[in-house]
Amino acid sequence: MSTAGTPAAEPAARCDLLVVGSANADLVIGVERRPAAGETVLGSDVRVHPGGKGANQAVAAARLGARTALLARVGDDGHGRLLLDSLRSAGASTAAVLVGGAPTGVALITVDPDGDNSIVVSPGANARLTPGDVREAADLIGAARVVSAQLEIPLETVGELVRHLPGGSRFVLNPSPPAALPAEILSACDPLVLNEHEARFVLGADGRAGADANGQAGAAGANTGGAGDRSGTAPEDRARALLELGPRSVVITLGARGALVADSRDDTCVHITSPRVEAVDTTGAGDAFTAALAWRLGRGDSLPDAARYAVRVGAAAVTAPGAQESFPTPEEVAAL
Ligand code: ADP
Repeated sequence: MSTAGTPAAEPAARCDLLVVGSANADLVIGVERRPAAGETVLGSDVRVHPGGKGANQAVAAARLGARTALLARVGDDGHGRLLLDSLRSAGASTAAVLVGGAPTGVALITVDPDGDNSIVVSPGANARLTPGDVREAADLIGAARVVSAQLEIPLETVGELVRHLPGGSRFVLNPSPPAALPAEILSACDPLVLNEHEARFVLGADGRAGADANGQAGAAGANTGGAGDRSGTAPEDRARALLELGPRSVVITLGARGALVADSRDDTCVHITSPRVEAVDTTGAGDAFTAALAWRLGRGDSLPDAARYAVRVGAAAVTAPGAQESFPTPEEVAAL
């Protein structure tokens, strides 16, 4: 394993999709009942899965055949090695996965028989992916057709990333977990990809487009998941309100109902339906969707066409258990 801060492999060549984001080990324990404060309960054997939104997106895109690289940070530990192995076996480049500085990020997940879960996340090395790491990766960023990011890494790192995007590249952001977003980041998004919960949060308590005096949009500090959103219940209203915040396009994912695609350039708002499937486990569906969308945009698809492909990838991902383990090959997408 490499020493702290050094790349884990040789540099990647020009890539279709560069994912900048998190890598976590998901530690899952099945319990009869999730523990109350001060309580101890016995659970199943622990299952350890590679996860984190960044690593999930990179694995999903690579499995579809995209030349994919991940810029991330993991610890010099067994969880880090698990993540690197998963990325490599999917065919993603780990040349820009930095190793060391903190333990690999961990999500501690307890799941009860109803499928309800409680999750504690220790960001670990993800929190140490710095703006300096982005500057060091300027060549890789400059060579990517599409760059995608999420918010399980520091917001200032995403801010530095958008400052390094070359002209002609495309930036796709999934604002998850949702946070107040600076105008500089919002205006770089093409598209902003988010589920309905995230859309409500980003629109904030008044459900109204527009940045505050600090150039930020979103319900900063809100913990209600946007319960006060008054932008109307129709996803179309939310998509249009989100466009007013500055992204050139918006995609709202709607679970089994597919996705809504809104583009400010031609003032369109299109509903893309998802294939009907028997859902087994929806973990990672949004990551698979976003990775597929970003890759197809880089290949020159229109936004609605890229979303038509992405809903099939998201639907295929929910037909198998797990996150990275469930992401489909092109043959599996075609078979849907
Ligand atoms: P997230 O995982 O971020 O909450 P969604 O639940 O909206 O995101 O799912 C993302 C995409 O995965 C959807 O747009 C859809 O294409 C697909 N998907 C999710 N759940 C289902 C389902 N039950 N049936 C078919 N497709 C689904």
